[in-house]
Amino acid sequence: MATHILIVDDDLSIRDAMYEFIQMSGYEASVASSAEQALDVLSARAVEVVITDIMLPGMDGLALTDQIKRTRDSDVIVMTGYSTDYSYEEAISKGASDFVFKPVRFEELLLRLKRVLNERRLNQERLQMLDELKKLSITDGLTQLYNSRYFYTQLKGEIERSNRYGHKLSLLLLDIDKFKEYNDTYGHLEGDKVLVRIGRIIKSCLRKMDTAYRYGGEEFTVILPGTHGEEARTVAERLRSAVAAESFPGGGNPGLKITISIGVTQYRQTEEISCFVQRADQAMYRSKQAGRNKVSCMFEESAE
Ligand code: GH3
Ligand code: MG
Ligand code: MG
Repeated sequence: MATHILIVDDDLSIRDAMYEFIQMSGYEASVASSAEQALDVLSARAVEVVITDIMLPGMDGLALTDQIKRTRDSDVIVMTGYSTDYSYEEAISKGASDFVFKPVRFEELLLRLKRVLNERRLNQERLQMLDELKKLSITDGLTQLYNSRYFYTQLKGEIERSNRYGHKLSLLLLDIDKFKEYNDTYGHLEGDKVLVRIGRIIKSCLRKMDTAYRYGGEEFTVILPGTHGEEARTVAERLRSAVAAESFPGGGNPGLKITISIGVTQYRQTEEISCFVQRADQAMYRSKQAGRNKVSCMFEESAE
């Protein structure tokens, strides 16, 4: 999409000359004769840079700059005559990216515009990179589920909410059955593929509010906010049967079956995070003892 520049000046001849110059320099342009009109344009379309006169009828260019920087995503270059009361510092403190004196020398304006656009692009790239880094820091590289560090961050937050508002909160802990055997038979790489597949199955079975994590090697957790233990049991049962119904191709063998054991528990108000997680682990262990491919629950005492 072309870069769009908005020119704001109450002097028609300046406005027209700048409009022509900006277009000839390869940018798209709009014009406005007042700050109010400029805000209308900004509401109607995306604008990368606003070049505005400081002295305008009604709202002045500084107030316009202030409003743009607080509510929009455009950069601002302000123009002013030498003889006015407005200072460079004032414009910059309102968030203007640059400042040019009138009469404007177009070549100089173009250099400044290019610099502002360049900084803008660098800034956007920086933000994007930060975003990606943040995503990486909370994601498990193999399964693309959230990682265990993020599990604890999120669980802490949900526990606080549960304690404050009395919301129900449930937790599932899932462990793949006899996974060591699978690895030993078909190799670690095939095992990794199973982890990826199971991660996808878990995700596909969850509701919008629920979040899934790779908790450890072949263990997963699911946080179910606002969910009573009994409802969590239903989700767990759905997960267990979805995995059991899937065929996993290991070592060219098309129809291998894999099962998971699940522990379900509900948060007890004011208890420590470690107690909560341990109880899910104990429930999961019960499923193992009961022969695996099972769902076990430990929440009866607290399920008011
Ligand atoms: P159980 O039914 O009691 O859970 O038996 P298990 O074999 O699954 O349990 P155990 O804890 O003895 O072994 C877990 C195995 O999971 C060990 C390891 O081979 C496998 N594993 C753990 N992390 C990974 C991983 O990242 N990739 C692969 N391929 N295997 C893993
Ligand atoms: Mg395990
Ligand atoms: Mg296991």
